[in-house]
Amino acid sequence: MLRYDLIVIGSGPAGRRAAIQAAKFKKSVLVVEKGRRVGGVSVHTGTIPSKTLRETVLNLSGWRERGFYGRGYRAKQNISAEDLGKRLHITLNHEVEILEHQFARNQVSTIAGAARFLDPHTIEITDEHGSVTRCTADRFVLAVGTKPHRPATVPFDGETILDSDDIVNLTRLPRHLVVVGASVIGIEYATIFSALDVHVTVIERGPGLFGFVDKELTDEFVHDLRDRGMALRFGCTVKSIERHDGHNCTIELEDGRQVRGDMVLYAAGRAGATDTLGLDACGLTCDERGRIAVDKTSFQTAVPHIYAAGDIIGFPSLASTSMEQGRIAACHAFGQPAHAPPEFFPYGIYTVPEISVIGMTEEEVRERKIPYESGIARFRETSRGHIMGLHSGFMKMIFSLETRRLLGVHIVGEGATELIHIGQAVLNLEGTLNYFVENTFNYPTLAEAYKIAALDAWNRMPKRQPSAQTAAALQDFVARSQSA
Ligand SMILES: Cc1cc2nc3c(=O)[nH]c(=O)nc-3n(C[C@H](O)[C@H](O)[C@H](O)COP(=O)(O)OP(=O)(O)OC[C@H]3O[C@@H](n4cnc5c(N)ncnc54)[C@H](O)[C@@H]3O)c2cc1C
Repeated sequence: MLRYDLIVIGSGPAGRRAAIQAAKFKKSVLVVEKGRRVGGVSVHTGTIPSKTLRETVLNLSGWRERGFYGRGYRAKQNISAEDLGKRLHITLNHEVEILEHQFARNQVSTIAGAARFLDPHTIEITDEHGSVTRCTADRFVLAVGTKPHRPATVPFDGETILDSDDIVNLTRLPRHLVVVGASVIGIEYATIFSALDVHVTVIERGPGLFGFVDKELTDEFVHDLRDRGMALRFGCTVKSIERHDGHNCTIELEDGRQVRGDMVLYAAGRAGATDTLGLDACGLTCDERGRIAVDKTSFQTAVPHIYAAGDIIGFPSLASTSMEQGRIAACHAFGQPAHAPPEFFPYGIYTVPEISVIGMTEEEVRERKIPYESGIARFRETSRGHIMGLHSGFMKMIFSLETRRLLGVHIVGEGATELIHIGQAVLNLEGTLNYFVENTFNYPTLAEAYKIAALDAWNRMPKRQPSAQTAAALQDFVARSQSA
């Protein structure tokens, strides 16, 4: 039987970082991956494919130039599924090669196959040919991630009725795409296809989009989507999905209405990939969505030598946060110092246009009764925005009235996922409005929006000391973000 200091199950962002961190401590590390190649959901069906597809669509469609040349502008006519696939495969191969090289350089061993616990220190790995290998380790990191929720009532066929894994292998472009579920994944794909001039209908049970995003932002975003012809049906539950001749589908709603399309993307939720892990044998349990509970500062599970990180532990389920969780888990497992996960982390939503947020929304600030002021900058007010031909996009910043501390940054528009990091730095360094007012920004940049939004807030800001109530509310917010 093979023996290791650490066995990591799953080679996505959490598993990868845990393995490399442990290897840097000179530990013997094995990564077990049941997929055909290392990289996890992030590289093969999630983050990297969807973002590559997005970039390809924006480039080929000439989306970024339409502000200047009009909605009819196209960089390439007749874009095909093959055009989209080409760039995808080159990017994914490159990502896998880099990861394989990282593992080799750090002497991390890998075995291809599905791992299952036999007892708390032993796993069995079954490869695609049915061969079985047994391995034992002192410590484990479970980084098995999630898989799309596929209700038995939905007739998935991988071609016309798809989940988010299938869409990566698209062989044709739809004329009318119906997206079930206004999840981040659902809306990212809905807007990507809409940028290709595909007619898109989104069906969502809830009352709106992205409950964790500032309402002013989502209102503007929804308006933007409707303006370009996307149909958003909120408060609608799907009763059945049926495929007829060819690619024609009918989606019947609980209220009796019907939606027709020639492709359906079902993007309503994901479940932890714990069902075949043999959790019973190692003394662990999971919740009804297959997720494992951990201590949120060390990522240790209820069984002390077993850690879990990444999507398998639930919120926030991002590649970015998964990496940090994996690294911290490996540090804790081998008694090495590690910083706790950061107080505030950015959330990037790669829709078209993109959204990125950090800190408190205006709704949260109000709920906590923290006196605040907000400032807004529209991208079309910046010189960079004029140069780029931007008509939409804005940044909103929220400041404590009494401490002047930055409480939240909310951006929708071009470059949002990059711009947010300026706000993140100031927020985590406990900076105030003064930073933005007193510093010089490159000109012409979209980052200038920070100064404009700060000045907008500053114009209305009185100068006072924080009340005990505000200080307590701020402290409470910090504690809550750490335990979320
Ligand atoms: C369409 C889509 C778009 C996304 N976009 C973004 C984004 O833009 N930004 C962002 O930060 N995040 C994004 N995410 C989320 C991101 O992909 C996940 O947060 C991240 O991949 C989670 O990493 P992980 O390490 O938990 O596991 P995963 O990446 O899910 O990998 C888990 C691995 O474990 C393997 N595995 C499972 N069970 C076993 C077993 N029993 N034995 C061996 N191996 C096993 C699986 O094969 C898989 O390779 C997106 C997700 C999706 C689906």
